This record gives sequence, structure tokens and C-alpha cells, in this order.
Amino acid sequence: MKDSFRAHKQDVLDALQSDRTHGLTPDEAQRRLTQYGPNALAEAPRLPRWRQFLNTLKEPLVIILFVAVLLAWASAAYDVFVIGDVSHASAAIYESIAILLLIGVNSGLSFWQAEKSEKSLTALKTMADHHANVLRAGEWQTVPAESLVPGDIVSVKTGDFIEADVRWLHVAELQVNEAHLTGEAEPVRKQTHALDEDAQLGDRTNMGYSGAMVTHGNGLGLVVATGMDTELGKIATLLTQVKTKKTPIELTINALTKKLMLVAMAIVAFTLGLELFKAYQATGALSFAAIAESLSTAIALAVAAIPDALPAVLSIVLTIGATMLAKNNGLIKSLNSVETLGATSYIASDKTGTLTKNQMTVTRFFANGARYQVEGDGYEPVGEIIADDDADTPGFSRFMLASVLNNEAAIEQDENGRSQPFGNPTDVALVVMGHKTGVDRDTVLDKNNALDIDLVRVLPFDSERKMMSVVIKDKDHYQVLTKGAPDVLLEKTDLIQDHDQLLPVAEGRAKVDEVVLNFAEDALRTIAVSLRDIDEQLAKHGSAADLEQHLTLLGIAGIIDPPRPEVKTSVAELHQAGVQVVMITGDHAATARAIALRLGIVSDPNAQVVEGKTLEGMDDQALFNIVPQVRVYARVSPEHKQRIVHALQKHGEVVAMTGDGINDAPALRAADIGIAMGINGTEVTKDAADLILLDDKFTTIENSVKAGRTIFGNIKNFMRHELTTNVAEVLALLFGVILMTHQIGNVPATAPTLTALMVLWVNMVSDALPSFALGYDVPEADLMKLPPRNVKAPILSGMLGRIFLRGIVMGGLVYVAFIWAASNGMSVAEAQTLGFLTLVFGQLWHVFDARSTRTLFRRNPFSNPRLLMAVAFAAVASLLVTVMPFFNTVIGTAPLTTPLYLAVVFLPAIPTFVLSGLKELYWRLRPSKAPQSVPQIKPAKEV
Ligand code: ADP
Ligand code: MG
Repeated sequence: MKDSFRAHKQDVLDALQSDRTHGLTPDEAQRRLTQYGPNALAEAPRLPRWRQFLNTLKEPLVIILFVAVLLAWASAAYDVFVIGDVSHASAAIYESIAILLLIGVNSGLSFWQAEKSEKSLTALKTMADHHANVLRAGEWQTVPAESLVPGDIVSVKTGDFIEADVRWLHVAELQVNEAHLTGEAEPVRKQTHALDEDAQLGDRTNMGYSGAMVTHGNGLGLVVATGMDTELGKIATLLTQVKTKKTPIELTINALTKKLMLVAMAIVAFTLGLELFKAYQATGALSFAAIAESLSTAIALAVAAIPDALPAVLSIVLTIGATMLAKNNGLIKSLNSVETLGATSYIASDKTGTLTKNQMTVTRFFANGARYQVEGDGYEPVGEIIADDDADTPGFSRFMLASVLNNEAAIEQDENGRSQPFGNPTDVALVVMGHKTGVDRDTVLDKNNALDIDLVRVLPFDSERKMMSVVIKDKDHYQVLTKGAPDVLLEKTDLIQDHDQLLPVAEGRAKVDEVVLNFAEDALRTIAVSLRDIDEQLAKHGSAADLEQHLTLLGIAGIIDPPRPEVKTSVAELHQAGVQVVMITGDHAATARAIALRLGIVSDPNAQVVEGKTLEGMDDQALFNIVPQVRVYARVSPEHKQRIVHALQKHGEVVAMTGDGINDAPALRAADIGIAMGINGTEVTKDAADLILLDDKFTTIENSVKAGRTIFGNIKNFMRHELTTNVAEVLALLFGVILMTHQIGNVPATAPTLTALMVLWVNMVSDALPSFALGYDVPEADLMKLPPRNVKAPILSGMLGRIFLRGIVMGGLVYVAFIWAASNGMSVAEAQTLGFLTLVFGQLWHVFDARSTRTLFRRNPFSNPRLLMAVAFAAVASLLVTVMPFFNTVIGTAPLTTPLYLAVVFLPAIPTFVLSGLKELYWRLRPSKAPQSVPQIKPAKEV
């Protein structure tokens, strides 16, 4: 409805035929969805599929191949029309068909991979999509934000995005950030009354706009506009399709491919020149056939030099990685994160809910000057309250009442009669404690009750204030009830209730402080509960700061939140992997230290804990100096997190940081991997995060790091394998071009070591298939025993030597096989076939070594069944093409004798085994040069 801000809220409801307590019926919502369309911004139309397919034909390799096809046709035409040799012509035609087929396969592959990766990314994005809380037929439900329609009743709370334009029906301390529309960074306080005719967008305080962020409080709104009809839709340009941003590895590979293209071009020019010269020398003239033959060698070289399967395999492997992570409950939003996760060196984690179970139970409390134990587990209202000292029990009824009234949580019975918690776990713990003593909020507030207490206002908890308050009206006088972190609250306290007397804080504080420390050292979370009498003016209009002072302390609750049992193992494994774990919490320093000890985050019972207020007094340099030693931060506010991230990053660390509240978003953005909680996190943090933990568990972070490392390791392995092949192919051909200066036996000086189609075969079949399988490989045994990779080092660092050495040996062997065949009077085709198979099997043996950062002796060859299948397939297929006449014509192969087949299958294994053996021997003799596992972590020491 247009201009809903001018109308009374009931009129807007009527105009949209909606109902505040029931919302729309599902049928009506469905009808409106068809009428108004989904609540989403319009997307730019995508390229038609045939255009996408054509785009894959622009690859440099494809262009080279097309040149080869044209060349084959030219030479066929020459054969037919000038020489009249039809059989020679048909061979050229076959060759061109084979090349076209390969172009098809290659383009099909890259088209398929682009589709697949877009599909899985879209699926991941949908899982991370926005949701809204909507009232349909009287029931609250969570639906995808896209399905909101005008007339829907939605509720929002701190940390939510507003998903459509709404007219507020009810607000409670609601504040909203609308910077995306108005540019105004300060949150706007919302209300529900009708406004003036000409209120500008930024002044329409009874409206909420799509894309705005709830920074405080909560609200109930009526959807008045969705999708492109919202204010956001009016200014939004068309969103382009999911952009698949290239990851650093992909960029590296693209750059590498470009460089290799240049090298290839230089080699091709050189080869062409040399071959033409050789042909001229041999015959004294340059025939068309000689030119065609030289060109075809040059093309073989160009094909050999470009690792064409690499980009496709790489992006498929990254996509598979993202899907794998999601199955492990780690949802990533871009492929970049796979890479970064593998390099993570610091994990800074929230305590509550991630390291602990977030199932809170009050086990002890201190009220009216005496201590009590609370028995019973879970949420059932059963459990004794036992005074620590029976003789000294002045009663705790005010503490109990204040604990349950200053509280928005609830316990409800499910259909099986079991108690189910609703709301903030800390508050739930207090509700359960109340139930154990027979105090229940709903009963107290009930109108038919003898007590005449009303709830006037709620000031929700936030992790900045570390307090929560409610204002109540008891008959005709007002009170504010405040509860929160004891050290914060005691600063605002004037009086302490002790044995039904009110002591000045100076007198009573020492005893309270001792209790708090006592509780905290037992790993209990502590909450101080207080109250204050106030007048009506303050009650109705006072700010949180006005209300939360001059308090009277009633008592302290001690709440246990058990550590998640599996976290200890995860922490130990991460330490082994050289990844540091840091706990960041809003809790008391002693509580934090006690939990950190139990989880193995620190090992020293006196380990240093840095508090938020200490951080406040430090400049960035001072923080930079201490940050490597500190493992526990307590009583921190969200803005401290960002400083900790920056300080760690300045040390060159790759930091993963968790967060769940709205104020954590900047820290998550600053971190290399921002991690949000899927269950308890706010929409805003999910939006800012790179990784969403679907189960909120710390162990999922560890698994994600492990998966990141596995995938990165696999990528390195297949890159090494691919590039070794390329070096071997180029050298095999170049040796021929340079060293074959005259005819040997039946083989003329201009005959290439391998035909262009042999090179293509090796790239597409015996090389690409095993590479794929390497991309799926299982992690190496010591994956989590090595330190994180250095992100600054280029991806190929430490591998180039191996790539070249293996490539030279393999290429040399191919050339030797070729020359040997020629010297023994074999035909050109036979000599080339011998070279071809030497290369294929050299590769297929080498692949087992490429699987390991060590050597093939340290890796079980049977642990990757896909690889065994790929190798077997490539071996059989490559042998078959040498005996099948059709392929003999097309590829230029010829059948060999059995002894030769045996030799060519097994002899190429020798270099791989010998070189790996030499390396093992070297490591034996010089243990200091062998790959090292992580030195044990430096324990957090005193600073
Ligand atoms: P964390 O999430 O790291 O556990 P919080 O910011 O939730 O830290 O809590 C910090 C402190 O604030 C707690 O130690 C507790 O004293 C207090 N607190 C937590 N939740 C509530 C609440 N619902 N009401 C009042 N005080 C709370
Ligand atoms: Mg919390």
C-alpha cells in the first residue's frame, strides 16, 4: 500500500486485508505470491546456453586446434588436387575429425564444469539465504524471505534483517540501521503512530525498509511492499547472476597458462624455423608437404606446452570441495574460502555455544548474604535447594522473583510432556531455578493473581552493556530489575541486601567479590541480580543508562555450561597441526580460564587472561606485542574482536574468527575466515561470514580446516602431475627437433618424436583422468601434523625442481625410445608409438609419486580407488589405440611386438622409483632436510 506511513496502523491492516493475530492464510499467501511475484530483486537475464558454450571455444588451445584442422584440410586438398594421392588425403581428413572431436570433448568439459560449479554454488547460496519469521494462520513460522507477500505479519529482533517494507504494528525498544537507504549510520528509533503527509524516508519512523538491520529491540510489522516495489528495489539496479569470483589459485593458474602460451609461441617459432631449415637441407627445396609437416610438429609442441585440462579440473575440484564441506556442516559462500581455510593458523572462537554446550543450569547461588546449592539436571522443575549453612538462611524470595521477572525465556511442555526451553539459555537457567522453588513468571504476572505486578518495559541483554533490565509496576510504584555481569553491575550498585538488611556497597562488596571469584573458578558463569525503586517519569522515559544505576544487589547466580566433550580432541589436533586456538568470551576471566583449562586451550592453571578493559587501555602496538602469547580473552565486547583480528593479521597469521551477535559482523568481515553460527547466529553475522557452521560446533571448524588442507594438497598434487607431463612432452619433441639432425634408418630428420594427436591423447586421456582422481584423493596421513602453509609462498614453491627433474628424465626417455627404435630399423609410426607409450606409462607410474608431498613409498597405492580405475583405464585405452587400425590411421600409431609392449609398460617405472628412492636415502642421511612436523606449541606464557 502506498504511503502507509500516513495512515493509522489499523487502516493499513484493513487495506491489506490482513489480521494482526492470525496473519494471512497459507492459501491467501500463495495467491498473493502469484499476484505480486517473489520478494526478491530482479536479476539480469543470463546468457543463453549456446552462447555460454560458444564462449568456451575462445580458449587459446581451442584456437590452436582449429588452426590444426584448417591445416589438415589444406594438406588434404593439396594431396587430392595437386598430387592426386587420395589415401594420404583421407588420413589428413581423419586427423581433422579427431581434432574436432577433441575440441568438442574439451569444450564440453569446461561447459559442464562451469554449469556444475554454478549449480552447486547456487545451492550453497540458497542454504545461506535469508529467512523471515512470519505469522500464517495464527502460527509463527520461518520461511525463505523470498516468499513474503504484502499483508504478511512479520516479527524481527536484534540481529535480523528486515526482509520487506513493513509498517510497524508494535515495537519494543526497536532501533534500526537504514544506512543503505539514507546514508545515516546512526540507528533510527522506531514507533507505530501515523506520521505527517510529507515525512521523508529517513523520518518515517513507523516504517521498516527492506535490507535494514535491526540493531536493538524487537518489532512486529505488516508487510506493505515486496521485491522490486520496496524502497530498496526502486534504487537497486539489476542484480547480475551469481558471480563466480576466481580464487587465488585459479588466478595463479590463469597467469601461469598465459606465461606458458608465450613460451609455447617462442618454441613453436623456433621449431618451425629449424624444421624448415632441416627440410631445405635434406632436399634442397621447400615443398608444401615439408611445410605442412613442420607446422604439424609445431602444433604438437604448442599443444604439449599448455596444461589445458588444468583450469577445468581445478574448478571442479574446488566445487567438489565446497559440497564436501557443506556435507560436514560447514557452509562456505565462495570457493575462495576453501583455499583460505587450508591456510588458517589461528582460530579465535566464542566460548558460549561453540566451545560449550549452551545448556545452562544454575547449580549454586548467593542471595541475601547466604549460599545455596541447586540440585537437578535439565529443564525439569525438580531439584532441591540446599543451604550451605543451615543455621544461616535468611530467605531468598526477592532474588528469586527478580531472576524470573527480569527474563524473557520460558519452559513449555511438548506433546510428550517433556520440558522444552525457549529463549536465551542463560535466562532459561534462571527460569528453571525459579520453577524449582515454585516461582513462575506467568503466575506472578497473571491478572487473577493476588499480586498486582505488570511488566512495563524490557531493555534486552546486549553483549556491550552485559546487562538486561525490565521495568515493572507493582500496584502503583515502579521498579527496575537489572541483572548482568557482576563486575559490571557492582559498579552501578549502591546497596547490597544481606540478611534482610541493606549494606552500603563499600561494606558488603568484599564478600560478594569472593563469592563471584569462587563460582567463576569452578567454571560457573555468574549473573548478578538487582533492583531499584524509581518514579513514573524515569520508568516510562529513562534510557538504559539512566535506569541501570543506584542498584540494590540481591544476589548472584552461578550457572554451569558444560564444555562440549569433543572439543578437547579437536583442540589437541589443531595444536598438532600448528593451528592456535584462542577463546574470546564476554564471561568472567576466572570462568574463561577454568573452561580453557578443561578444553586444553591453555595448560597452565595461572595462564594469563586478558580482559576487555585491559585491551581498552592498550594501543595497537601494545596489543600487537602481546597477542602471540594470549590464548584467553574475557569480558570483551564485540569491537575488541576486530582489534584482535587485526593484531594477529599483522603477525602474518591467517585468522578464522567466530561471532554470533550483530556487533560481531565487522570482526567477521575483518577476519580471513569469518565464521557465523547457523543455529544461534543472527542473520547479520551469517551475511558477513565466509563460513556458516550449520551445527554451531567448534569441531566443524576443525573439520573444515582439515578439508581445506586436503583439497589444497590435492590441487598441488595434480598441478605437479599435469605440469610434469607438459615439461616431458615439450622436451621429448624439442630433443627431436634439436638433436635429430639427419635421417636414422627409416626415420627422416623432420619426423617429430610424437604426433600432435599423440600429445593430445596424453593430455586428454592418460593425464586428465588420473588428475581428476588426484583431485578426489584422501588426505595424507600427516596432513594435520604439518604446520599451516605459508600463504605468501607461491603455490608451486618447492615443486618446480621436482617438476623439471621428472619432466627432463621422462622426456629424455621418450626421445631415447624413439631413437632406439629408429636405429633398429623400425618405421616412423613404430618409433613414435614406442615414444608415445613410454610417455603414457612414465606418467601413469609418476602419478603415484605425485600423490605425496613425500615419496610414493609413504603412500598406500590402494587408498584411492578412483585413481586405480583411472590409471587402469588410461593404460588399457592407450595400448588399444596402438593396435586398432582406425586409431593407427588417425593418431599415427603402429602395433608393436609383445616384448616391446612389456618393456614399454614397465621400464618407465624405473626413473620414478629410483628418484624417489634417492630422495628417501637423502632424507635418511640428512634428517634435518626431511619434511618436519610441527614443533609443539609455545605454551601461553605470562606477559
Ligand atoms: P559469551 O557469549 O562470551 O558467553 P555474553 O556476552 O553472552 O558472553 O555474556 C557476558 C556476561 O553477561 C555473562 O558472563 C553474564 O554475566 C552476562 N549475561 C549473559 N547473558 C545475560 C542475560 N541474559 N541477562 C543478564 N546478563 C547476562
Ligand atoms: Mg552470549
